[in-house]
Formats: sequence, C-alpha cells, structure tokens
Amino acid sequence: MPELPEVETVRRTLEPKILKRRILDTEVHYPRLLQNCTESELVSYLQSRRFVKLDRRGKYLIAVLDSGSRLVLHLRMTGRLTALPSGLPLEKHTSLQIHMDGDLELRLVDQRKFATLHLLHESGYGAIKGLATMGVEPLDSGFTPEYLKAQLEGRTASVKSVILDQRRIGGLGNIYADESLYRAGIFPGKPGGSLTFDEIQRLHTSIRAVIREGIRFRGTTFRDYVDGDGKSGGFQERLQVYGKEGETCRGCGRPIARIKLAGRSSYYCAYCQV
Ligand SMILES: [Zn+2]
Repeated sequence: MPELPEVETVRRTLEPKILKRRILDTEVHYPRLLQNCTESELVSYLQSRRFVKLDRRGKYLIAVLDSGSRLVLHLRMTGRLTALPSGLPLEKHTSLQIHMDGDLELRLVDQRKFATLHLLHESGYGAIKGLATMGVEPLDSGFTPEYLKAQLEGRTASVKSVILDQRRIGGLGNIYADESLYRAGIFPGKPGGSLTFDEIQRLHTSIRAVIREGIRFRGTTFRDYVDGDGKSGGFQERLQVYGKEGETCRGCGRPIARIKLAGRSSYYCAYCQV
C-alpha cells in the first residue's frame, strides 16, 4: 500500500503537471470509486474547472479546485495515479480518467479497486472519518518524543500496532514501521507501554529518518506503486528488513524473521531487536 513517502512523491510529481489546466471531460469507469457523489455529479462539477493545489494529508491526496471544493483520493492497496499524454490506450483496471487541456490526462488505475474518491464542497473533513481523526504526521513539528510517549503510554498492544494506528501517527504504514523499528532496535511485538523513554527517543528519531529517506528516494515499489510519471520508486533498494524473511541481517548476519501482528506481517531481526 502506498504510504506517506509514496503519496508525497505522487503529489510532488503530479502537482506541477496538473495545475491551472482546464478540465475538458471526466470519465468514470468504476463508479463505486465515488463515495459521496454520483458519476454525473462529478463529471458535471469538474467540467471546465482547474486544480489550483495538490495537497497531501497522511495517505490521502487532496486536489483543490478553483471553486474551493476538493477531490480527496485514497489509493488504498493498488491505486496508481499518473498524468499521461492524452490518447494512450486504456489499461485494464482503469477506474477514472480526467482529460485536461494541453493534451494531458490524469488517470487512476486500480487493480484491487479499493481506492476511494470524495468530492468535498464544505470545509473540514467531517465526511471522511480517516482524515477527520488523523494524528500528527512524522515530519510535523508536533511529532516529538513526548507526543510518541503519550501515544504508547499504558498500551498493552504491540508497539507496531500502536504506530500503525493512523489516529496516532498519520501516514506511517507497514513498510516504514518495520524499517523504523529495526533501526531503533525494538522488537515490533513489544507492548507499547513497556518502552523506556530512551527507546521512545530512538524510535522517534528512526521514524523521522526513515520517512525522510523514503521521500528522498521517491518511495518504495514493492508491487504496484509508481509515482505520478509512472516511474518506480527507489527506496526498495534501501530496505533492511521489510519483505526480507530468511535474508541476512546487515547488523548481525543472522536471518531476518517474520511474525504476524494485528493481521500484518512484521519483519525483524530477533537478535538486533529486543
Ligand atoms: Zn540482526
């Protein structure tokens, strides 16, 4: 699933291409993508409008229109949003096409069809629970060791499941959580409330570093993810544990292990992470 660095990379690659262009036509190939409007409402609302800004919050992309209304897209498992020259052949699993002037097309291709799109006319995010309740993001100034401590305090749930909770930390997902815990030397199954302040500070530092590097290397392509130009990311070359069960830990030479926590695979080194 695209996480914060991937969605931020999509935002950065798309924004300069799509802003200020006039929307000529919109085609919805998978109407269930639309969460709070009909196909005809979306098509007629977008007609002749322009995007003036492309924002991101957590794993959501927020495209602001010249009217002030916003399109809010979550790519979920397999969504790919790219800006392409007009007229390329339609790919299988194309959910949405927004045709713009200057021969550009914004296209959403989504194999698993879990992506969601909201058209918001009102301010705030009340209509989208995941956005309305989202916690601070790793690179926000509010994400401090003290904030992380408050999230973990008293929790019997694993530290991994606490830091994946989007209400506590916005945008962190499975890949970057595993990499952060590895760098911090913390076992992902350790109860959140049992971490010492020293461990919390290490985890805080490693979460920020991993997210920054993820953005710098333009995201991680494990299966489906591509940026707004259709290019793969580069952070998969730098992963140390995620997806590496049985491979050698760079720290100690022992094999990387995998366990299930809260229904998700967690990759870790049983020797380096305690
Ligand atoms: Zn190790």
